[in-house]
Amino acid sequence: MTPSKSVTIIGAGVAGMSAACALAEAGFRINLVERRGYLGGRASSYLHPGVNEVIDNCQHALIGAYTNLMGFYRRIGVADKIHWTTDMTMIEPGGRRSQLGPSFLPAPLHGLPKLLTAHAFSLADKFALSRAFAAMMRPIPENSTENLAQWLARHGQTPGAINRFWRLVLASALNSDLDQISVNYAAMVIRGLFMNSPEAGSMGMSTVPLSQLYTGVANYLEARGGRVLLNSSVEAAHWDGSTAQWTVHTRTGPIESDFVLVSLPFEATAKLLPALPPANGAAVLAAQIERHEHWPICSVHLWFDRPITDLEHAVLLDREIHWMYNQSLLQNRPGNYIELVVSATRAFAALPREAAIDQALRELAEFFPLVKQAKLQKVALIKEVRATFGVPPGIDANRPGAISPWPNLFLAGDWVQTGWPSTMESAARSGHLGAEALCLAAGNPRRILDPDLKPTGLMRFL
Ligand SMILES: Cc1cc2nc3c(=O)[nH]c(=O)nc-3n(C[C@H](O)[C@H](O)[C@H](O)COP(=O)(O)OP(=O)(O)OC[C@H]3O[C@@H](n4cnc5c(N)ncnc54)[C@H](O)[C@@H]3O)c2cc1C
Repeated sequence: MTPSKSVTIIGAGVAGMSAACALAEAGFRINLVERRGYLGGRASSYLHPGVNEVIDNCQHALIGAYTNLMGFYRRIGVADKIHWTTDMTMIEPGGRRSQLGPSFLPAPLHGLPKLLTAHAFSLADKFALSRAFAAMMRPIPENSTENLAQWLARHGQTPGAINRFWRLVLASALNSDLDQISVNYAAMVIRGLFMNSPEAGSMGMSTVPLSQLYTGVANYLEARGGRVLLNSSVEAAHWDGSTAQWTVHTRTGPIESDFVLVSLPFEATAKLLPALPPANGAAVLAAQIERHEHWPICSVHLWFDRPITDLEHAVLLDREIHWMYNQSLLQNRPGNYIELVVSATRAFAALPREAAIDQALRELAEFFPLVKQAKLQKVALIKEVRATFGVPPGIDANRPGAISPWPNLFLAGDWVQTGWPSTMESAARSGHLGAEALCLAAGNPRRILDPDLKPTGLMRFL
């Protein structure tokens, strides 16, 4: 490959950044172009004017199986900023706690002892869950049209198992209602989180606000002849077949390059399509995008005058608020900063601000009685209505690969075909897959995708 080949990457979320760094390492000159004034897209932090604190747009949890996101973090030198834990505390209203997590048993049995002793589940729930986990080990036809709600009914899941496990842990990991989740994606999460190995299912949380993770990206690219252009919304792109060059038109001026990688969310990709040259296959891509749907995630950020719990994080059962993250402990921040996450509920997202905060506080006090004595000093509510895309049955037919209908233009973004649901790992994988496709087209084939973790214990033979 001629070392001076250039790439314009449109969108600096996790997908765009991970592709940019991998391609810079492969010798390309990168223009990383971002509409906003900061990097990170849907996984970022900013100074919230209402509370005068730098906060994440929402807590972003990792799991051990996020090999490509960790590959990107390693490349920019921030892998040690992730705090890992293997235990998950579930709390019932009233405060009774149960612990899920690994034991001495080999995978896939490592989680069984703690599940069997968890107060949160009745004996019938435990049998139902064990049966369902075993069933999820069996192959599921790729073209299955069954949704998870139907599958759970067919596998005799109890109301306790459905409400306290499937709806809470699984549906919130996939951020959709149970009847909007494909069984294949559900099985993928169950195998990855609970069965493949204790390491794959461990949970990671950043010890710094998300955008701090990306402060090295600009230096990384500049040291390799590239640059980052912020506040530069891309409005159109033109291909000149005679010079084999793309011109990307941004609000701040045109950029020429040999290759383009579009790493936008699906709705922003759809908006850009009419401003690309005509191409066979563009209409098919537009039709695929139309079948995608957004799901919201809300987070409530609370500062109290005193500690309300010594837990780092917890799953909150039977209420609208789902996850509690103690950011004072996780990010070692002054004050008593608690973040609550509400996923997969359009109803909470539709509540007016005051009603949402009141409900969150009322419910939090049911789990942590100290909330009643504590004084709330400040609060921020963040509603991300376009947080993730859904993974209903059949969605894979509408997730395009990295190759696009245009010459030397590739696609990335969490929604393209990675086999993963809408997560930072899907975004990082899409960036690495897009970079691989681009390297191949440039005559410099190389492996960029980080390999999956190997299953351990008995899972090696299953
Ligand atoms: C509230 C919330 C909670 C989440 N929780 C988790 C979690 O716990 N764990 C997890 O793994 N994932 C989580 N996710 C999902 C995760 O954030 C996304 O899957 C991932 O960040 C998507 O990255 P991306 O690069 O594909 O897209 P994006 O992050 O959307 O990046 C696209 C970028 O393109 C830019 N852009 C748009 N239009 C233009 C244009 N015309 N020109 C130039 N730039 C443009 C955008 O500003 C953005 O920066 C969560 C998401 C949200 C919103």
